[in-house]
Order: sequence, then C-alpha cells, then structure tokens
Amino acid sequence: MNTAPAIEVRGLVKKYSNKTAVAGIDLTVEQGEIFALLGPNGAGKTTTVEILEGYRKANSGEIKVLGFDPATKGIAGQKWRNRIGIVLQSASDAADLSVIETVSHFANYYQNPKDVDQVINDVGLTEKIDSKVHQLSGGQRRRLDVALGIIGSPELLFLDEPTTGFDPEARRSFWDLIRTLKSEGTTILLTTHYLDEAQELADRVGVINNGQLIEIAPPSTLGGRNNAPAKVMWVENGVSKELLTSNPTEEVIKLNQHFNGQIPELQVLRPNLEEIYLKMIGEVK
Ligand code: ATP
Repeated sequence: MNTAPAIEVRGLVKKYSNKTAVAGIDLTVEQGEIFALLGPNGAGKTTTVEILEGYRKANSGEIKVLGFDPATKGIAGQKWRNRIGIVLQSASDAADLSVIETVSHFANYYQNPKDVDQVINDVGLTEKIDSKVHQLSGGQRRRLDVALGIIGSPELLFLDEPTTGFDPEARRSFWDLIRTLKSEGTTILLTTHYLDEAQELADRVGVINNGQLIEIAPPSTLGGRNNAPAKVMWVENGVSKELLTSNPTEEVIKLNQHFNGQIPELQVLRPNLEEIYLKMIGEVK
C-alpha cells in the first residue's frame, strides 16, 4: 500500500503584487487524516488551499498533492482531478437545474461516482431533490456544494469553510458525514472559522496568521492547552471564589477536606480551543 502523505508542502510562497499572502509554509497531511486550517480573515487559508487544488500558482515552494504538483496539470491531468473533491468557498452557480439533475450531471464526470440519491440524502437534501437550485436557501446551496464535492468518491477532499450558513442541526449532520468519509479512508483538508468544528473533526489543526503557519498540533494540545492552568471555581458563604492552578486535583481534594464533603457549585475549567486560538493570533492577551 502507498503510504506517502496525501499532501506535502515545503516553503510555499504566494504573492499578489506587493502583498505576500503566504509566506513560506511547510505542511504535511497524512493519508486518512482530517486536517483543519484555522486563521483569521485574510490569513492565507484560501490561497493555500486553492494552490493545492491547482486553481492558483505558487511563486515558490515544493508541492505534492497525491504525488503530483498541482501546477503541472499536463502531468497530473484529469486522472489526478478525479481523485480529488473540492468544495470552494463561494457557493455553486444557481443554474436552472434541479438538485438531482445537478448532482447527476457532476456524477458523470467521475469514473467511480457515489450513488446520487444516497449523496443527496447524506447532505440532507432529499426533501429538495426536485427543487431548482436557485430556489434553495443559502444553507441548502452550501449542502449542495458539499454533495458535489463528494459525489466522485474522492481520496482527498478539500472543504473551504464548508458549514458557513448551516443551522446547528445541519452542522451536526455534516460532522457525521465527514466522520463517515474518514472511516472510509478519505483524507480531508478543511478550513473553518468554527473552533468547535475543528475540535470535533480534526486530527490536527494548523493555525495560520499573516501567511505563516504558527503551530500544528492536535486540538487537545494546541498552544499548550493541555498544560495550561485550570480555573477552579466554587462558592463559599454566598461569595464566588476562584483560583488558577496547574494541579486542580490537589486543589479539589483540599477544598473537599475544607468543606468536609460537598464543594458548593464546584467547577474546574481549562481554556477551550477558542480561547487558546485567540491568544495565539494575538486577539486576546
Ligand atoms: P478568509 O478567512 O477571509 O477567507 P483567508 O485566510 O482565506 O481569509 P486569503 O483569501 O487566502 O485569506 O487571502 C490572503 C491575503 O491575500 C489577503 O490579504 C487577501 O486580501 C489577499 N488576496 C487573496 N486573493 C487575492 C487576489 N486574487 N488578488 C490580490 N490579493 C489577494
């Protein structure tokens, strides 16, 4: 079995006239991995992803996606493209076709498409199967984008802000769908502004800021989150108390002895991914 990484990037640089959008990033995504790129608006996420998809050209760097440089389309060609699924940031054009016509049309481009009805069901559009695309709501259009990204049974799926406009229920069903794709062996690179999405789905996240990857780590250890001090909170004589500690267990035992049992309104909190992320990109001190 080929165990080469699905994506290998070394020293990727992209400039738009004077502006350096991507300032030399290194990135490896292993086969079967879900990797989330996080970063503020304008950080360079879409630029990076679209270079990997072959839609933009890098100024410099070594790039391999499923073993090929996406810029040399002549070599990679249609066969390479067939192995990749793409959900771009912008929504699909609202053609005068129905949902089923659109998905069936895209299925024809691929050698090994998934079942059209099944995919429409997987993205939660069965009720809208005969509706024209231009009659769909924003969130439903986004679901259609996801259907078109996965219809070709891709080995590698790029998702650029896939759940923007989804209601909470749709986001959760989308997460289930992504987990199913992962269990089938699909490699997934996604960008998102939703920290809970990264936390739920990603094996590793990369935080990009001003065109630089500032850290790559699993969500649970990003920014030293696992070793960050915990906040222990409780109530004593009607007054809220709190302390920061690197050993919350010890503090809870002490409090337990102090109260001789139940600690009123005890809470132990570690910084969540959002707090750590905002700190990393300099939004909070
Ligand atoms: P967002 O979260 O807002 O989608 P992003 O991280 O995807 O942001 P990019 O779209 O990659 O960011 O943009 C990175 C930088 O490059 C930004 O400063 C943006 O203005 C600039 N940029 C992107 N595309 C172009 C372009 N076609 N021409 C000129 N500048 C561009």
